[in-house]
Formats: sequence, C-alpha cells, structure tokens
Amino acid sequence: MEWLYCDFHIHTTWSDGDLSIKDVVQLYGEAGFDVIAITDHILDSKSLLQANKAYGNHCSIEKKDFIHYQRELWNVARYAWEAYKMLVIPGIELTNDTSKYHILALDNKEYISPDLGVEDILNEIKAQGGISIACHPYIRNHSGEAPSEYLWTNQDRFALKFDAWEVANRDDLFNVVGLKKFNYIANSDFHQVKHLRSWKTLLRCSRNTEAVKQAIRTNEAVALFLYRGGSLK
Ligand code: ZN
Ligand code: ZN
Repeated sequence: MEWLYCDFHIHTTWSDGDLSIKDVVQLYGEAGFDVIAITDHILDSKSLLQANKAYGNHCSIEKKDFIHYQRELWNVARYAWEAYKMLVIPGIELTNDTSKYHILALDNKEYISPDLGVEDILNEIKAQGGISIACHPYIRNHSGEAPSEYLWTNQDRFALKFDAWEVANRDDLFNVVGLKKFNYIANSDFHQVKHLRSWKTLLRCSRNTEAVKQAIRTNEAVALFLYRGGSLK
C-alpha cells in the first residue's frame, strides 16, 4: 500500500486564512499532496464578540453560515478529486480562547459549538463519525500564552479520548508530546502560502476518507514529514 502525503490543519478565508478554499486546493494539488483537511475556526462566543470588535467578522464561521461552508467544501472536494486525485476532508477547528482549547474535528457532519466542554465536544465529534485532534497542545506564542493550555494541563484525563495529538505544528516539534506515546499527527496550521513549508503527516492506507480516519485512529503506519517545497510527484 502507498504512503499518502497529508495535512489535516488548514485555514482559508472562511476564517483567518489568506487563501480561498479553491486556491488552497490548487496549491496543495499542484504540490502533489494526497489528502488535506480544511479546518476553519469556530470561535467561542465570548472570544467571537471580542474578535468582532477588534478585527471585524472575518475570523470565525458563524453557525448560520456553517451549511454554506460545508457545501463549498463538498463542491471543492469533487473538483480536487477530479483534478488531482486529492482527497479533501471537511473539518473545523473548535477554538475556545476563553477556556484555552483548540480541537480539530475532521469529517464532522454538523455544527459543533466550541462553548461546550472538552468531553462534550469529543463525544459530539465521535457521534458524528468524525476524528478529534488536540491542536498544538504544547505551543507557546511570543507572549508566553498557550492557546491549548487546558488540554495539556489535563493530558492524563484526555489522553485516550482524542484520536490524535499534534506532535508537530508548522515549524514546531513537540518532543514532550512524542514522549507520551499518544497517537500523533503533524500539521501545518496553514494560514499563508509560506506555511506550506512545514511539518506534515504520512499515512499508509487507501485513498478514501474512511481508510484515512481509521489510519489516524490506529496510528500504526504513520510518519512525520518535513515538506521543503517542490513537487511530491
Ligand atoms: Zn489553533
Ligand atoms: Zn489552526
């Protein structure tokens, strides 16, 4: 079976990314990637109010727009398959900046509120047949803040409840996550074209969504990969 080049954490103009969904698909398709997930932010309601005041309403998918986001993803997924044989998995990043957790949901079917607690979010993702990933659990930004501090502080409680934990995010490699031997994954957290050069995941499985999801869950044939540009094909 072949190894698939994957990236499961990508933002577009639906939240705070620079590129449209179609432009993202063309960028990854031309580079030769096999599987990508589009995971725009849904902000918790308190942070959304603050962000709307600060930046205008371009940083989060609102509940009323979720169906339109899904429909654009389904539509572009068909284009990606026909043009590049690339799988596009619809997703979201549940972004709770009030309680400090960022959670990726892949292949979720319905809107999920980031105002819910972590356990409720994970149960909801599972009930919708999705995959849950703890985002950048160990990252610290320049001011020393950790956007997923709550997940890392409660790692023992959540360890096995997530399908995978990011062991690498963009340029950062979290050896502390690796040492825990949690199921792992590496993603770009793509917002701008320059973020294409970053840590990614290789999975050995068939090229379809159910097989990819199962490969993340079992985490047996998985590898880290540092993409440095150029064509993969
Ligand atoms: Zn995040
Ligand atoms: Zn992100």
